[in-house]
Amino acid sequence: MCTVGGPVDIEFNERVKGKNYRCKDCGERFKGLGKRPMCPSCQSENVEEI
Ligand SMILES: [Zn+2]
Repeated sequence: MCTVGGPVDIEFNERVKGKNYRCKDCGERFKGLGKRPMCPSCQSENVEEI
C-alpha cells in the first residue's frame, strides 16, 4: 500500500458500500448506489444487479 500522506481515505469506505451492477447495454460492471444506478460508461439505466 502506498500512502501519500493525506487525511483519512474516505474513498475506500465508500467503495465498500453499494451493490454490483452490470450494464445490459455495454456490459460495464460497476458499483451502484441508490435505487436507480446509472452506467458510468454509457449513462444507461438499463442495468441489472449481479
Ligand atoms: Zn453501459
